[in-house]
Amino acid sequence: MSATLIDGRAVAERIRKQVAADVGALATSPGLATILVGDDPASAIYVGNKRKQCVTAGMRDLHRHLPADVPQAAVADVIDELAAEPSVDGILLQLPLPKHLDAVALIDRIPPDKDVDGLTEVNAGRLTLNRPGLRPCTPAGVLVLLDEAGIELGGAHAVVVGRSDLVGKPMAQLLLQRNATATVCHSRTRELASVCRQADVLVVAAGVPRLIGADAVRPGATVIDVGIHRTDDGLCGDVDRGVNEIAGALTPVPGGVGPMTIAMLLRNTVFAATQDFT
Ligand code: NAD
Repeated sequence: MSATLIDGRAVAERIRKQVAADVGALATSPGLATILVGDDPASAIYVGNKRKQCVTAGMRDLHRHLPADVPQAAVADVIDELAAEPSVDGILLQLPLPKHLDAVALIDRIPPDKDVDGLTEVNAGRLTLNRPGLRPCTPAGVLVLLDEAGIELGGAHAVVVGRSDLVGKPMAQLLLQRNATATVCHSRTRELASVCRQADVLVVAAGVPRLIGADAVRPGATVIDVGIHRTDDGLCGDVDRGVNEIAGALTPVPGGVGPMTIAMLLRNTVFAATQDFT
């Protein structure tokens, strides 16, 4: 039997509508400042989509575009200026940055309460300690998808493949907070397929096309595919299509996790504007 597909497009649309309604109820429209350094085509498309959806939701688009050879101090100045500006509610520094820039130092200049990507060390600490704060958009979106699909997390064994600061680590923390038993796998994990086969919920964010095959999935498990790759045969994820016949529920690529990331960014911008992180 084929897995039930978890429709990220539909869930993301509901969140965007809710965000637009929340924005309409505020006295002042929230302002989101995206910062794009250079002209990487993929980053330009991502930032363009964020800006467009921000405006559609009724928020103010406060974009900054800096040249690829901009010095570290000049990017820092822009972040400091946006940080001090009360009409800016959220600041997003689009990654990756050109190699000469120190991304960690720049991210940590963003005030935690304007850090709508949830990547500063303060927000990572708040997440780890289960305190209110802005959460990274992609793993927060995965949690919403699991809830919308009615997946019980309490006591479930959740296996996360990938330990990046952007996805894998915060994902494991969020699952732990929901009382799942969380196991984190990475590139040095031995017997990856056999660890994954123990999962009731398997979240794959390894950045390796079709890494997870049917042999790594327990029949009926829920599989969330965060990966996205452009191949000669079109888009694919980190999960092989054969898993469709084994999993109980699965996010498609495209149309699964992808649409959730920007929807959660918009939601985080409302949280930042209202300083309500609950
Ligand atoms: P990353 O490269 O920073 O991290 C990848 C992680 O996977 C690392 O921790 C690494 O140890 C692990 N890994 C790599 N090869 C492995 C292997 N063979 N076995 C087990 N673990 C392995 O990537 P990331 O930023 O976390 O992104 C992961 C994927 O998710 C990418 O495909 C990326 O494009 C995608 N992504 C999608 C969205 C979205 O909105 N849909 C958002 C962020 C990332």
